[in-house]
Order: sequence, then C-alpha cells, then structure tokens
Amino acid sequence: MPDPILRLALPSPLRRLFDYRAPPGVPRSALQPGARLRVPFGRRELIGILIEVTDHSEVPADKLKPALQLLDAQSPLPPALFKLCLWTAQYYQHSLGDTLSWALPVLLRQGEPAEVRQERFWSIAPGAQLDDPRLSRAPRQRDALKTLAQHPHGVAHSLLSTLQLSKDSLDLLHEKGLVHVNIRRHAASARHANWLAQPELPLNPEQRAAAEAVRTGFGSFNAFLLAGVTGSGKTEVYLQLIRETLEAGKQALVLIPEINLGPQTLARFEQRFNARIALLHSAVNDRERLEAWLAARDGEADIIIGTRSALFTPMQRPGLIIIDEEHDASYKQQEGLRYHARDLAVVRAHQENIPILLGSATPSLESLHNAHSGRYALLHLRERAGGAKQPRFLRLDVKSRPLDSGISGPMQQAIGQTLAAGQQVLVFLNRRGFAPTLLCHDCGWLSECPRCDARMTVHQRSHELRCHHCGHVERQPSNCPKCAKVDLRPVGAGTERAEERLAILFPKVPVLRVDRDSTSRKEAMNNLLSTIQRGEPCILVGTQMLAKGHHFPRVTLVAILDADGGLFSADFRASERMAQLIVQVAGRAGRAEEPGKVIIQSHLADHPLLVQLTEQGYFAFAEQALSERRGAGLPPFCHLALLRAEAHKPGQAEGFLDHACTEAELLLDELKLSGIELLGPVPAPMERRAGRYRAQLLVQGETRAALHRLLNSWTAALEQMPSGRAVRWSLDVDPIDLF
Ligand code: ADP
Ligand code: ZN
Ligand code: ZN
Repeated sequence: MPDPILRLALPSPLRRLFDYRAPPGVPRSALQPGARLRVPFGRRELIGILIEVTDHSEVPADKLKPALQLLDAQSPLPPALFKLCLWTAQYYQHSLGDTLSWALPVLLRQGEPAEVRQERFWSIAPGAQLDDPRLSRAPRQRDALKTLAQHPHGVAHSLLSTLQLSKDSLDLLHEKGLVHVNIRRHAASARHANWLAQPELPLNPEQRAAAEAVRTGFGSFNAFLLAGVTGSGKTEVYLQLIRETLEAGKQALVLIPEINLGPQTLARFEQRFNARIALLHSAVNDRERLEAWLAARDGEADIIIGTRSALFTPMQRPGLIIIDEEHDASYKQQEGLRYHARDLAVVRAHQENIPILLGSATPSLESLHNAHSGRYALLHLRERAGGAKQPRFLRLDVKSRPLDSGISGPMQQAIGQTLAAGQQVLVFLNRRGFAPTLLCHDCGWLSECPRCDARMTVHQRSHELRCHHCGHVERQPSNCPKCAKVDLRPVGAGTERAEERLAILFPKVPVLRVDRDSTSRKEAMNNLLSTIQRGEPCILVGTQMLAKGHHFPRVTLVAILDADGGLFSADFRASERMAQLIVQVAGRAGRAEEPGKVIIQSHLADHPLLVQLTEQGYFAFAEQALSERRGAGLPPFCHLALLRAEAHKPGQAEGFLDHACTEAELLLDELKLSGIELLGPVPAPMERRAGRYRAQLLVQGETRAALHRLLNSWTAALEQMPSGRAVRWSLDVDPIDLF
C-alpha cells in the first residue's frame, strides 16, 4: 500500500488545501479527519486540520514533506461544527483553513490538547508510614511524604512548588508505592433537578404569547423575530425559554453584542439558574475560553453566553439559540473572516434543526424583511413590562440657532428644568473627544492626519490630537504648525467639550461622561452606574456606549445633540443606524411615574424619516425605509459583495480592481449570469487611511445564487492575478458598511 497522503487545511489566506506525508511512525489508522497536525510551512511551522487521507497528490512524491506531529487522536471539532465551518468558508469565500482557525479557541490553534483540563493529584498511599525504613536515608523524601500526609485530599500538581514539594522526591516515593498519583478532571458538577435559583416573573399576555409561539417551535428548525420595545421584557422571555430548554435536557446558546458585557446582563442569567454557564466574551482569557468551549462541546455547560465568535462553540445537546439585540453591528466581523454571527446563527440552527430566537427593540431591516416574507415568525411586545410609558419625542430645529459647545439655548433650558425637578438627564452625542477638528483662525490650517484623509480629533484633557481612524497621536500644538500664530480654535463638539460646557452651565450637579476614553478602566463604568442608581440629579454625557445594555430609570430627559449625520450620509444604512440609535438611547430612560422625554436637535428637523420615526415609531420608520430600499434596489432587495484593495502607492489598488472588474465581466459572460452589476472601481470614501491608498469595487446581484456563482469562480481567478500581489485585497460578502 502506498504511503498515505494527508490533505490539510492550513491557516493561510490561500483558498486551497495542502498535501503532506504522514508523520514518521504514525499508522494510517491513527489519522482521523478533523485531527490537528503540526507541519512545516516555508520556514515556519503551522497547525493544520486533516480534511482527508488519500493516495494521490498532484505534488511529486519527492517534494511532499512529512507532517511533524499528530496532535489529536480524534477531531476536536464535532461534525456539526465542522459542517458549519465548511458552509462559512464557502459562503464568505474564505479559505477553509483560516475559517477553521477563527472557529477554534486560540489555545487550540496553538496546539494545546483539546481535552477538558485534567490535573494530576498527588496523595499519600493508604498504609504508607512516615517512618518507613526505606526513607531512613532519604530525608527529602520523608519530608515530602510528611507534607502529603497533611493533605488527605491530595495536592494538585500545580501546587507542588508552593508547598516546596519536589517532583523528583515524589517520583521516587511513587516508585516505592508510598504515594499515589491520580488524574482528575475538573469537577463536572451534577445536573440539577430544579434549574431555577430564583422565581420567574409571571409573564404578561404578550410575553406569554411570544414564549408560547417559540415553545411550539421547539425540537426543529424555526426562526422567530421578537420585536419588543426596550424594557418590554424580552430578557424574561429568553430566560423562561432557556429554562424549558434545560428541562428538556438540552443546551442553550445566547449571543450578546460586545457592548452589552455590562455585569448586569450576565448577572441576570447567573442569578436565575442553577446551571453551569460557559462564558465566551472578550474579557475572558484564552485559558478560560478553551475550558468554556470544551465544557460546551462535552455537554458539561448548560448555557453558553458569548459575543460574536461564541457562535462557533460546539454543543453536545443543542436546543436553542438566542441572539439578543440582533440589529447590533458588532455581530459582523470586520476583518479577516468577515462573517455575520446573526446570519450564521440562523444557518447553524437550520443545520442542527433547532429553533432560533432573534430579539431587538429595533430589528434590522434585513430581519424585518425576512419576517415579512415568512421566513421568520414575527412576535411583538408593544408595552413596557414594568408599566412604564414610552418616552415622548420632540424635534428641535437648530437651523440658524447659535450652538454653545453643540448645545442650543432651548436644550439648555430643558436640561435646567429637568435638573431643577430633581431628575437626571442623559446627553447623547456620538462623537468622542473635545472637538473633531483644530483650525487656525489666521491661515486656515486644519489638523489633518498625516496618514489618512481625515482630521485629527482634539483631546483637550490629554493635550493631544488623535486620529480616530488609524490611531495616530500628536501633542496638541500651541502655535499653528503652518503660520506659527496662536489663534488655534477647536471646531465642532465632541463628548469631552459637551461635558466641560455642561459642568460650567450646571455647576451644582455631577456631570459624568461615558465613552471609550472615559471607561477604559473597568471600575469607571461601575462607579458611574452606582452614582446614577443613587438617583440624585446628574447629567450623563456619552456616545453609543450609553445606548446599550443599561437601564437608567431616573433619567427623564434624553437630549440628542446631533441627528444630522444619519440623514445625509453617503452610506445607505446610515438612516437605519441613526433610527436604531435614537430609539435605543431613548429606551434607556423613564419609569412608571415619570415618562421620559426625548429632544432631538437637528438641522433637518422636518426630514420625513425623522418625522416618521418620532411621530409613528420605529416600525413605521422601518416600513418606510424598506420601501425606499426596494425602490432603489438596495439590500435586502439585492445582495452585495464588496471587493476592497489597498496599497502603498496611489493607483495600485485601482489597477488591481480594474483587472478584477474585467475578469468578472468575462466570467459573467462565460457563466451566462444575468442580474449582476459591477459598480466601480472607485476610491474608497476615505481614500487614504493609515498611509495606504484604498479603492473598492461593488458587486450587486439580484439573486444570491447568481452572485455566489460569480464569486466562486472570481475569487479563484483573483488569487492568480499578478496585480493582486502588490496590493492587500479582501472580499466582503454582505458588507454592512461600504467604507
Ligand atoms: P428588555 O430585555 O425587553 O429590555 P427586560 O427583560 O430587561 O426588557 O425587562 C425590563 C424590566 O421589566 C425588568 O426590570 C424586568 O424585571 C421587568 N419585567 C419583565 N417582565 C416582567 C413581567 N412579566 N412582570 C413584571 N416585570 C417584568
Ligand atoms: Zn496658521
Ligand atoms: Zn489617521
């Protein structure tokens, strides 16, 4: 029989598999598909995944290198997850090896064993005597035995050095039969008879109807969209459905947006259940992540909660998937494998034949469209659960009104009145820093980033100019770099400036800022929350970090300083995002006795979308926005793929995209595909970023099938294209942002 050939997926951007010979001395029977192998690759070593074992290779036999080491007796990735990765690689036109690598916890990518951590425990053997004659001339062994005798449950291997126990002495004692070593798994706690650690709330009729609908969909693939206004009790519905999933002996996977990691969200799950919860979010370290992943895979975790990448957590007994805040942009990965965790979650639920529940107060237009077309069942929660009223919206036209650090006169009055009534105010401005630009009043110099087509933001507190696109930082100059005069003026307002101004206008109340700059330290957010909970008058100023995850019952006024960006942006999704943000921020406020008020400053206060949103609510807005998208032939009524390229020299990226465009036209002909348009290439909206010149080519398809037929052949051709070597390019299937 010829030597077996191993076909491996390697963590490389190349969309192909790589052939190797088996590691020396490893029999064919030991090589299971899915197992990891360490292999030489150029001058490096990589860890690849065995896709198949065959007998022939296109590579001449003398060029085939042997793999170095087999790492697994069986595939660490169960078949269901493997299937999901195959689908993902195919759909997002990404290399399979790289996809598998994204799906695996970091430590598995690095070759750690894929088993629940096992630990060696050392203990004194029953009947062993401290005065054993064999130890009379071995004082160190005798001391070691003495120490062990003090630990009747054994000593974990990791504690040996703490207890000054030497491994050599223990090995010698072990040979004499005086100590035992046993291997213990991390304690797998027993399953619970009563899953509830805390009583459930009796559901209101809308919640009951929603839960009932999902329950009847248990046991097979069914997709639900739970559209419930903020505070309508979506989380309570999730919790009760999870309890039923656990009672059925199944596991539940819950995805939350990155920003929702506030301890509040997780605490609600932990307090409710007597269950083993595996957490997989960005604050979890690599070791904990691996353990959580393995516990989920082996059925030892009952509930798996995590952000985007937790979608790739295997489950032994999958029962239910929940995607909270399904509209959130953090579900889309914007680098490498550009997958959308919500969309993949629906695919996964389908593959595993289980129900999936997408929840949001402001569902994405994509999901609403899926509900309208019958692919998802739409469930509504229209009322706030605690009986609180929905906030009232007021549009404040600021055309030709002076803005004082971004805050108009009437807005200042409204803030003052709310504080005087003993209540709290939330001021929302989605722009951090002091001011978006520094301007020289004498010569017109602007604080442009040397590496991007963008202005650097003034950060007054740290005396810096910072580029929010590439991270470039400079000291804030005291003289104009061009004309050396001193009249440098910050233009426009960010949260830092609004905070400073509000503190001067309202000196008697605390002004608290929440944005990425202020909350970099973990404690800061918690301090802030406790101040707010105390309930005394205060002003909260912040970016979209304020819009998510928290509930501020004592806030009765939400002041939105700038809604214009969403109304005249070049990005067709901008108005959807603005509407979601406004509704989410508004939803933070108000309680039963004190309905909230939301004031929106705008130069376009009569814009039809803004009028619709504020007078008829998000769903009316969404219908309007959907019909505009239909008219314009935009997603979800067409399908997009964006080919991006960037290079150090101007023109290089466009050159590659020109070739790519020609190639696509040829393929469209050859494959006889219709309903596909190529738009571009054009320079990216911000052409230069971090020192690179960027351009893009948009592919728009009426049907997904045709678009994907093109992409399949196209990506293969792009990989071969010589002009592609000099540029960095990537393909984004279903891009959510066209920049
Ligand atoms: P959402 O997830 O939709 O924002 P939550 O589940 O956080 O809403 O509920 C908002 C508030 O209403 C919470 O304080 C919650 O405890 C309360 N709540 C939810 N459901 C009920 C119910 N059936 N009866 C009473 N209070 C409820
Ligand atoms: Zn100047
Ligand atoms: Zn920059």
